[in-house]
Amino acid sequence: MGCALLVFGCAACGAPAQANPTLVMSIPATWDGAQYVADPNGKREPICEPCARQLLERFVREQLPIPSIVREADYFDRAYHQGADEQDL
Ligand SMILES: [Zn+2]
Repeated sequence: MGCALLVFGCAACGAPAQANPTLVMSIPATWDGAQYVADPNGKREPICEPCARQLLERFVREQLPIPSIVREADYFDRAYHQGADEQDL
């Protein structure tokens, strides 16, 4: 079985990262020519695992709605440490 990994630069901190393209967490951001900046009207861009964990903590703290998939206990393992199964793509 093949698998696919998305390789990208984190939209929040710029670090190179890789993740499952169907599960990766993303934020609305736009490219300003040098880096991504948070932009509520921007396209959703993927973020790296440390940034995703920080974002999740903020969501919990501010009691914002958390997507159900992100609440699953093994979300970070599946999103950032395994490729997508071909059948999911
Ligand atoms: Zn990051």
